[in-house]
Amino acid sequence: MTLPRRPAFIPHVIDGAEVESLDGGRFDNVNPWTRQPEAEVALGTPADADRAIDAARRAFDDGPWPRMGFAERGKLLHRLADLIDGRADELAQADTTDMGKPIDDMRTKEVPRSAYNLRFFADHARLSTGDVYPMDSGHHAYALFQPAGVVAAISPWNFPLMLETWKVAPALAWGNTVVLKPAEDTPASATLLARLALEAGLPPGVLNVVHGFGPNAPGQALTESAKVDRITFTGASDTGRIISRAASTNLVPCSLELGGKGANIVFADADLDHAVDWSIKAIFSNAGQVCLAGSRLYVERPIYDAFVERFVARAEALRIGDPMEPGTQVGPLASLEHFKKVSSYLETLEGGDGRVVTGGIGDGWVVRPTVVVNVDTKSPVYREEIFGPVVVVLPFASEAEAVALANDTRYGLNAMLFTRDLSRAHRVAAGLRAGTVWVNCFFIRDLRAPFGGAGESGVGREGGNFSREFFTEPKAVVMEVAAAPAADATEPLQGHTVRLGRRTI
Ligand code: NAD
Repeated sequence: MTLPRRPAFIPHVIDGAEVESLDGGRFDNVNPWTRQPEAEVALGTPADADRAIDAARRAFDDGPWPRMGFAERGKLLHRLADLIDGRADELAQADTTDMGKPIDDMRTKEVPRSAYNLRFFADHARLSTGDVYPMDSGHHAYALFQPAGVVAAISPWNFPLMLETWKVAPALAWGNTVVLKPAEDTPASATLLARLALEAGLPPGVLNVVHGFGPNAPGQALTESAKVDRITFTGASDTGRIISRAASTNLVPCSLELGGKGANIVFADADLDHAVDWSIKAIFSNAGQVCLAGSRLYVERPIYDAFVERFVARAEALRIGDPMEPGTQVGPLASLEHFKKVSSYLETLEGGDGRVVTGGIGDGWVVRPTVVVNVDTKSPVYREEIFGPVVVVLPFASEAEAVALANDTRYGLNAMLFTRDLSRAHRVAAGLRAGTVWVNCFFIRDLRAPFGGAGESGVGREGGNFSREFFTEPKAVVMEVAAAPAADATEPLQGHTVRLGRRTI
């Protein structure tokens, strides 16, 4: 099958138009597999970010989007989801070309999930019920969830389309307008998304995309603007700190989904094949460039040797290669800069911080699935987020030791555990400091559930009602319920009685 050719130029999308930067600047978009420039991208400046914010501001203050009913907005968001499904190949090709993830993952998981993000939040917003608080004093209060305004969405490169829609979908469903700044390494799918949004019938200015970098560039400008009402950011913890400081100047609420160093605990009673299977996916999917990766693997002593043997065999069997080829399971790292960062961790192991059982540097910007044992628990490889296909494996002797090891990190995004003991599963899940704990599985999400991290893994939660609270300005309305005329007076029932005219409810 021939895929449609990618555009040679990736523009911003501002106020419904595909535009160059005001100063005409461009930068190269490099394919990490071929290591060749694939396209040119509009190099945004703070002035371009301002232009996009102004368009979003106008669309919010004067446009139809926040004033439409949920059903009408939902219809357009569903249409956008259908268009994403219809253009799945083009979108899959965009992210795979930009950052080297296997095209199979785009086709079977990330594009369908991106469409689902839109459908889910459109329906969630439409079907949401508000809270009502009956009061003893003859009043009742209720909550209105009204759109917050202009949302700045700043996203990373590891799951470009999927994380962009994770932000854009709830923001739009609740009636906000958006300026999306995708990561500089992965611009193509964001422009396609904005193009499809216009095709679906979203009014101009509702979803704007501005390309470019973070510091002294559009990213920073978005976080420092007084015309922005919410900032939703996914990326590195250090960037989260900078964004949090910038947001505090204008007291703009920000949601931060940050880094992780996920613990994966395998107890001796676990189904071994099942645990090996998930543990492989948990660290080597997307070449380990996953915030939720299970990069610290703890295996109970009695099964340690058997587990490591199977795990290493599976790691060595993963198919490394051209991410555009169906069947490839591990592609290159996303950029030269990132390849150098991950490689530098492997170099520290040469100093004796641990022993590499399998893996290491591959061809081009590839790092092969790497398994490290006997690791020094003070070493950078053990403590820091490598964000590559590198896992450290340690044995443990007791449940208490496993929990203590898992919690000994400044991160707190997620953890996994494998056991057949139900009580232990509940006990350990409750004892782990993490925003998400998976038991006998990994990466399964219900979009109604809270998603986010503790510690340096984030601030706030998104998903379902958690997204509603962030992307709206919840408002309390308190109403007096007039007392009935004397002739109709009845003794109110204690507590939740509201008298409405002649009827007592
Ligand atoms: P990054 O922080 O370098 O960049 C993320 C985005 O922020 C990019 O769009 C970038 O241009 C922008 N940015 C950078 N500096 C900025 C600044 N000063 N002001 C405003 N914007 C700025 O992160 P990355 O390398 O693209 O992504 C990898 C990180 O993201 C990892 O730490 C990973 O764990 C994390 N991540 C977290 C989650 C989650 O849900 N918690 C999901 C995916 C990735």
